[in-house]
Amino acid sequence: MEKILISSCFLGNKVRYDGGDNLIENETIERWRRENRLVVICPELAGGLSIPRAPAEIQISDTSIAVKTIVGEDVTAAFEGGAQQALQLCERYNIRYALLKESSPSCGSSTVYNGEFNQQKIPGQGITTAILRANGVKVYSEKNLSVLINEFRSFELAQY
Ligand code: SF4
Repeated sequence: MEKILISSCFLGNKVRYDGGDNLIENETIERWRRENRLVVICPELAGGLSIPRAPAEIQISDTSIAVKTIVGEDVTAAFEGGAQQALQLCERYNIRYALLKESSPSCGSSTVYNGEFNQQKIPGQGITTAILRANGVKVYSEKNLSVLINEFRSFELAQY
């Protein structure tokens, strides 16, 4: 059965940096859950970070990409570790589709915060999204959930 990787916070799990969630109430996601299609991950927890944790943003320079917290701690290794665990899940279950939270430094797929902790977003993608896409996984967010639902339905129909 085709499975979908999903951000843990979308299912109401309180795994955000501030101890909150990003619950999505959607009948298709609920059906996918009942059908046991959902493979759940919070890459930041998987990478060893805790709840709560300091907010972090991606900072890009001419020579490097790093993830740093608002107090300047470099948490790049934890973000990369969580991304690798997400990729391992996709490989284990042959996952081709992921639904991840927009604008997160791990899960964002179209935008991320600009690295200056001033609430400004820029075009970009999170660390996990980048690794998944580089390995052929299609990543969607809550902003284009309907596109994922339609594409997944077409993909499933094509299997028969
Ligand atoms: S890392 Fe992803 S799954 Fe975890 S809280 Fe942030 S957006 Fe949600």
